[in-house]
Amino acid sequence: MSDPSEHGDPAGATSARSLPGAGLVKGLAVTLKTMTSRSTTQQYPDVAPDLPPRSRGVIALSEENCTVCMLCARECPDWCIYIDSHKEEVAVPGAARPRQRNVLDKFDIDFSLCMYCGICIEVCPFDALYWSPEFEYAEYDIKDLLHDKDHLGQWMATVPPPPAHDPNGEPAKEETAAARKASAPRPAPSSVRSEPGADPGPAS
Ligand code: SF4
Ligand code: SF4
Repeated sequence: MSDPSEHGDPAGATSARSLPGAGLVKGLAVTLKTMTSRSTTQQYPDVAPDLPPRSRGVIALSEENCTVCMLCARECPDWCIYIDSHKEEVAVPGAARPRQRNVLDKFDIDFSLCMYCGICIEVCPFDALYWSPEFEYAEYDIKDLLHDKDHLGQWMATVPPPPAHDPNGEPAKEETAAARKASAPRPAPSSVRSEPGADPGPAS
């Protein structure tokens, strides 16, 4: 008669399986353990989930900040940002010629292609794009996942305020520079150097 352990079947396992009712006891033990452990079920959609403030739900557009520089569209790895614009002349009082500025005609993001990498938000130099934690915008038709600039602008209302500054962190460079400038002593009027050849004024 051959030894069961020679065929990769430990003797203990074979005997445990052969015990009558062993499977039932094991199943009941799992049930009991699950019944007595703390439940982590979230009652969504009846109760909204408490998401971290930096959750990536949807991208919001602050249209007035956008200068149509096209950086976001160029850097998007999925090519799912579509921008159109035209130039407009703006008369500037006192200037020899009118200035030109870009006017945004179209700014669409196709969320059926977007992979939520956040590159467009990172590269925007004018703070025109933000993450909103809103995620309830599923559609029955995939074409409806193309959000135009008005739709993207509506998400701005759901963008959380920026986190408070860390009280132990370094102050911003701009703040330090402004404080240094404000505390610097102003030169006295008499110490202003007169130009060579200038009239020194009446002698006292
Ligand atoms: S999050 Fe990434 S994939 Fe989505 S639009 Fe921005 S750059 Fe493109
Ligand atoms: S990078 Fe920013 S400013 Fe430039 S086109 Fe995109 S959203 Fe507008």
